[in-house]
Amino acid sequence: MALKLKVYTIFPEIFPGFLGFSLTGRALEEGIWSLETVNIRDYAFDKHGSVDDTPCGGGAGMIMRPDVLGAAIKANHQGGRIIYMSPRGVPLTQALAQQLSQEERLVILCGHYEGVDQRAIDICGFEELSIGDYVLTGGELAAMVTVDALLRFVPGVLGSEESAVEESFSEGLLEYPQYTRPAVFEGREVPEVLLSGHHENINKWRRRMAEDITRERRPDLKNDD
Ligand code: SAM
Repeated sequence: MALKLKVYTIFPEIFPGFLGFSLTGRALEEGIWSLETVNIRDYAFDKHGSVDDTPCGGGAGMIMRPDVLGAAIKANHQGGRIIYMSPRGVPLTQALAQQLSQEERLVILCGHYEGVDQRAIDICGFEELSIGDYVLTGGELAAMVTVDALLRFVPGVLGSEESAVEESFSEGLLEYPQYTRPAVFEGREVPEVLLSGHHENINKWRRRMAEDITRERRPDLKNDD
């Protein structure tokens, strides 16, 4: 069952963008997920394609109009979890990305200017989702970050060797340090245990390193131990 993604944007040409490359791009080609963009501007009421207007009550910037957005959604909505990318939203986490990956249909609205009229958010029932405590120019990058993170949990997107299960944030831990060849680089050796072939010791070492790094860098992460 392929994940169907629909994106409402005023810049449909941005998509699939970097989602069209690497693992996510291959998965798109293979039909593991599909992408449809809706150009909100196509639903403007004037010949200039206006999608925004000045804020009621004054203030800087422009606000995306609820009637234009409403018309775009009315003409295209086919159900699914409906998300508005917004710095005010709940923070995107690995756990939430995994949860979103289980949806059959996902709808993402990319805002622009100063944001979206509150009535459109309320009437359409948008969940607000933030990718971090900073402000981007538009929701397209935020949508792509979200989709990239969730696609890693969709079966068939990662190759057989890669796994989303052992990555940072699984089990509330950051990842342990990784090494590859050569065994010595600029005088620094790969930790001996990793070359020992002793899987139990390797796992113990990795676990200990993951715990140390998490304690040091992100004590806020929840780790059951
Ligand atoms: N005036 C808004 C505020 O202060 O919350 C910011 C609007 S921002 C300039 C324009 C659009 O970018 C937003 O509507 C949203 O879609 C997107 N955006 C910006 N920062 C984001 C973030 N951290 N997470 C998700 N979307 C974001």
